[in-house]
Amino acid sequence: MKSGIFNRIYIFYAIILLFSVFFIEFYVTSVVRENYIENLKNSLAIQASLISSRIPFKTQTNIDALCKQLKEKTGARVTVIATDGRVIGDSDKATSLMDNHADRPEIQQALLADRGWSIRYSDTLKYDLLYTAKKVMREKNLEGFIRLAVPLKEVNNSINILRFKIIFAVIPVLIATGILLIWQTGRIRRFVIQITEFSRALARGALDKRLFLEGAGEFDEIAQNLNTMSTELKKNIDRSEEETNRLNVILKSIPNALLIINPNGIVELSNDASKEFFGNITLTGKPFIEVVRNPEFFFLIDNVRQDLSPGLIELKIDYPEERYLTVRVSPLFYKEEELSGFIAIFHDTTQVKRLEQVRKDFVANVSHEIKTPVTAIKGFTETLLDGAIDERDNALRFLKTIKSHSERLNRLVDDLLTLSKIELGVIKIHKTDVYISDIIDTVIETLKDRATDRGLYLRKSRQTETIKIKADRDRTIQILLNLVDNAIKFTNSGGVEIGIDTEDERNCIFVKDTGIGIPGKYLSRIGERFFRVDPSRSRELGGTGLGLAIVKHLAKAHEWSIKIESSPGKGTKVMIMLSVTTQVV
Ligand code: ADP
Repeated sequence: MKSGIFNRIYIFYAIILLFSVFFIEFYVTSVVRENYIENLKNSLAIQASLISSRIPFKTQTNIDALCKQLKEKTGARVTVIATDGRVIGDSDKATSLMDNHADRPEIQQALLADRGWSIRYSDTLKYDLLYTAKKVMREKNLEGFIRLAVPLKEVNNSINILRFKIIFAVIPVLIATGILLIWQTGRIRRFVIQITEFSRALARGALDKRLFLEGAGEFDEIAQNLNTMSTELKKNIDRSEEETNRLNVILKSIPNALLIINPNGIVELSNDASKEFFGNITLTGKPFIEVVRNPEFFFLIDNVRQDLSPGLIELKIDYPEERYLTVRVSPLFYKEEELSGFIAIFHDTTQVKRLEQVRKDFVANVSHEIKTPVTAIKGFTETLLDGAIDERDNALRFLKTIKSHSERLNRLVDDLLTLSKIELGVIKIHKTDVYISDIIDTVIETLKDRATDRGLYLRKSRQTETIKIKADRDRTIQILLNLVDNAIKFTNSGGVEIGIDTEDERNCIFVKDTGIGIPGKYLSRIGERFFRVDPSRSRELGGTGLGLAIVKHLAKAHEWSIKIESSPGKGTKVMIMLSVTTQVV
């Protein structure tokens, strides 16, 4: 603690004390001196009056001897001066050696006012002398002057003694009051130090501390007020921290991105979701145009600034990834009628957009798929009705075509229904322990004739006999039937093998063929509804373009996934990656 104020008090006190001591000493000694001199003057005047009658002023000889006698009686130096200032007698010095005394101040005064006096330093005696002079009149005529002089050495001595006595009397008092002052100020100083340390702790944020001052009088109230202040401060801080935490939790739990932008266009606050939308960088403190890189958003902010009313737009951002967003910007008013900034809430509509696109594509694809068989059926039926029915051979051919197209339509509707049933959850997966070997045998049994017809082998790979998995038997068969059917369709020579394997440290059931393969660029699209590498070939072979989509969905319902490896001209291997939890014994 800085001790300036107390040191200043001590110095101030010392100065006052010294000043008082000197003043008292000066005052007392001067009063005493004045009294003494006054008394001396009076007694010398009386003595001068008494001896004046014995002085022969008119004598022609000096009266030094008489003066000496009178000195013995009065104790003072006696000097007799004629009216013209000539010294005619002196008790201490030969008259002949003395100069004219008319100009002496005491003589001048006595001439005017009967009595005169003066204090002078005597060069001869080396101390102060008090001279008193009296005018001597006889029958109204001036006879001369009698001057009595006494040394003031004694007065000075007694005043010096008095001075010392005063000093010695005052010093203990000074020391006592000084000690008292230091003791009292020391106590106050301790309280001040305690208060200072407490306030310093408060400033550091240690709001749990309490200040207790014992017997501190007025300081006690300060301590109580400080304690109350710190309690209130703590309460307020706790409350505001709680509010901030609550706000943070709310902001964190909002899945939408939220930016608070100040009137200068700087992002002041952002929630966690914003990083997902605009990149994992510090957004706070950045101009909003660097965060949301889109001119439409810039114009929206501008509009809201001008209209002071909320605005909503849809926008697309390309960084850090392509996203479609709906953003609503509202003006913020912390104070009435003063724009404090903007709050922008971004809602990710990418998924909705994609689904919308998928739906549009799906409707277009279904219409396209249906259109061909329906047009064919309609055309051939009209031809038959127009008379072709009477041409037996043609009629038979036309009817066969109509049948094939209606079968295609039927398959399409069947596949669509299956897909929608899986999506709607109508088709449920009932897992039981099933032997892989048994499933593969069923699939081979069902499709072996088709394979043979196309001159292909269809076989099961070794080591599948004892392997059991948890799966829905019928749905697994359906998956494999689709895969093997595709494999047969798209293989011209060689054949198809079904088995179980390990891939990426996971078990999988695979269907491997030696067919035409799939070009690498299409691999990622395989499994999309109606996606076909070669649509006309697929249609020729009776494909609906939905087989692998159904496979994917059924696998997903088992918590499995599909992986395809293929090299054009060599063959394709489709793997059903079993989930880690799928038991393989
Ligand atoms: P579809 O077989 O009815 O055309 P899918 O959904 O079953 O429809 O298959 C989609 C497309 O994937 C096929 O048209 C074909 O181009 C390709 N494909 C699927 N399996 C194979 C395979 N084993 N060999 C080569 N291409 C295949």
